[in-house]
Amino acid sequence: MIAKVIVELSNKNIDKTFDYLIPDTLIDKVKVGIRVKVPFGPQELEGFVLEISNNVSPDLKEIIDIVDNEPILNKELLELGKYMQEITLSTLISCYQAMLPSALKAKNGRNINKKMDTYISLGKLEDIKYNDKQREILDLVLNNGKVLKNRLTKISASSLKTLISKGILVEEKCEVYRLNITKEKHDKYPLTDKQEEVVEKIMNNINEDKVFLIHGVTGSGKTEIYMEIIERLLKSDKSSIILVPEISLTEQMVNRFTNRFDNIAILHSRLSDGEKYDEYRRIAKGEVKIVIGARSAIFAPLSNIGVIVIDEEHSDTYKQDACNPKYNALDIAKWRSNYHKCPVILGSATPTLESYARGKKGLYELIELKTRVNGKTLPNIDIIDMNKELKNKKGSFSKPLIDAINNSLSNNEQVILLLNRRGYSSFITCKNCGYVAKCPHCDITLTYHKSSNTLRCHYCGYGTKVEEVCPNCGEKAISNLGTGTEKVEEELNKLFPDKKVVRMDFDTTSKKGSHEAIIKSFEAHEYDILLGTQMIAKGLDFPNVTLVGVINADTSLNIPDFRSSEVTFDLLCQVAGRSGRGEKQGKVVIQTYNPEHYAINYAQAHDYIGFYNTEMEVRKKLSYPPYYYLVSIKVISKDYDKSRDISSKIAEYLRSNLTDVKILGPSVASVFKMNNTYRFQIVIKYKKSDNLYQVINDLIEHYKTNSKVKIDVDFNPIHI
Ligand code: ADP
Ligand code: ZN
Repeated sequence: MIAKVIVELSNKNIDKTFDYLIPDTLIDKVKVGIRVKVPFGPQELEGFVLEISNNVSPDLKEIIDIVDNEPILNKELLELGKYMQEITLSTLISCYQAMLPSALKAKNGRNINKKMDTYISLGKLEDIKYNDKQREILDLVLNNGKVLKNRLTKISASSLKTLISKGILVEEKCEVYRLNITKEKHDKYPLTDKQEEVVEKIMNNINEDKVFLIHGVTGSGKTEIYMEIIERLLKSDKSSIILVPEISLTEQMVNRFTNRFDNIAILHSRLSDGEKYDEYRRIAKGEVKIVIGARSAIFAPLSNIGVIVIDEEHSDTYKQDACNPKYNALDIAKWRSNYHKCPVILGSATPTLESYARGKKGLYELIELKTRVNGKTLPNIDIIDMNKELKNKKGSFSKPLIDAINNSLSNNEQVILLLNRRGYSSFITCKNCGYVAKCPHCDITLTYHKSSNTLRCHYCGYGTKVEEVCPNCGEKAISNLGTGTEKVEEELNKLFPDKKVVRMDFDTTSKKGSHEAIIKSFEAHEYDILLGTQMIAKGLDFPNVTLVGVINADTSLNIPDFRSSEVTFDLLCQVAGRSGRGEKQGKVVIQTYNPEHYAINYAQAHDYIGFYNTEMEVRKKLSYPPYYYLVSIKVISKDYDKSRDISSKIAEYLRSNLTDVKILGPSVASVFKMNNTYRFQIVIKYKKSDNLYQVINDLIEHYKTNSKVKIDVDFNPIHI
């Protein structure tokens, strides 16, 4: 018998399946979907068995050994991998690897072991005289059935030894799962009429691969709706996947689920490899029916899936864009929903334009939740025009924001301050009037290149020198200013010397558990002000917070990306939703140099539909999604000339082989130089794919073996 085995060849973008002979000793053990060790030249590699056939071919090398007893890749995942390969044009092996936790990937080297503990249980009870210690040990075992050995050793190691040697007690090794979740009891609410209506609507389609889009303001009760559906599905033994953005997988969020459901697994990047391994196997063995996790949890090997929920569906973290395969969890969810014949529920207060447009077209079923469950109105939002505050402001703070902070703090309430760091310092601005240079052809903020002191458009390639004098106001005040969280923290300490400030940003949350610790201590009112980057905008629920301040709304407006308005609108709506969640009415203060910008005005009015309509016009005019699909092709090389010349050649090739598309570039990529490699980018805009995949696939094939350049393709990129 012969097995087809797929292996990963280090850092080459090449898929290889090789035939190996299955030795007699392993005939019963080699199955499709398990990992095996195979000889490969002088090395020994791990790979997945994809097929087994009855052919014989005596010249083949033999499989050395099996790695798993049971398949790691089941039938569904094997098929899903092929679909991922088709839509991302990545290697098949990279698709399989992406589905698995590190411990179960096919690789060479250390494997993570199961964590075992020794337990003691009853053997043969004998009618003999026991001393006190022995009696105590026996009682514990009789009452509990199985007791951790360590616990009994503490009572008396020698008595325990005696009981074991007589066969009265026996030792056994059992696996223990590393992740330990504590639970609190939590009463569930009776649903409101509106929630009930939504649950019914979805339950009526529970055996169809339909996509529902719940557009509901923050606090409209979406999470309770998900939980109700999941609970009803459990009764018919169906399982559920809930995706949430990495950053909102806080204890607060996880607790809501674990307090309500028993059999739940959690997958996110802050777990250790061992914890992930355990959680994954609990899912694969069918021990849990509910999986809650970040992007890669979409691959959870659950069987009999009844619903897939993607909360905060607009979050850019659902798209893998750091490495291949560059998949979007929404696409994977739709494929699995078709496989299992179950619905996908997308939820958001600010859906992506793509999703909402699909909802309006009827491709998704659109459900609107316009009010908060508790009847609270959304917080009032004040816009502060920073152009007018230049004389009065103290550092980063305008007078009205300082007054508002003082007001909340004097009532013993808490304050959240957002320092928007998106697009930080990669553009230049006028300190006097807030002017930002834009590309005359693309309406995209020009990226500042410090080394050459130039501004460039990385969409079309337009470039210009940095002027000293602002073309808008004539002042000599152009700079690439940006404000760091540390600096603002200092300012706060000076402005409010007797108040306590806690900072939450990339630096203060890099240690395991620190993110959680900051949230806990702020919740316990050990701090008055929480200052943070966008990581504070999502999912947090602090009833005592009555003021949210946005120090600088503008940075994200200036990201050199066609989504910059959408990102800003989303961020402002999200962070505004953190205010006034308790009994007291909340308030929001937004500081901006662009008080007339529609993203800011519609956020102030809590008007998603207004924003949607305006932004759709912009997208239409400039041929961006959802009117066009995008592909980004990056040409990466250590050699600047190679990268530039080959990208020109590729653009030419694309222009002559594709019809009905718009091709931009080549131009320098947003991150032009990275790890000493240069990146040029070509962007394709298209409506119908026709031969697009074929043409790009040929391109990838052509450069696969070229050691001088790397071609990096991203279909439907979130950022270009
Ligand atoms: P969303 O997910 O839309 O932000 P949530 O489901 O988190 O909304 O609900 C917002 C708040 O309202 C939460 O504190 C939640 O516990 C509470 N809540 C939700 N549904 C109900 C209900 N039917 N009755 C009472 N409180 C509810
Ligand atoms: Zn341009």
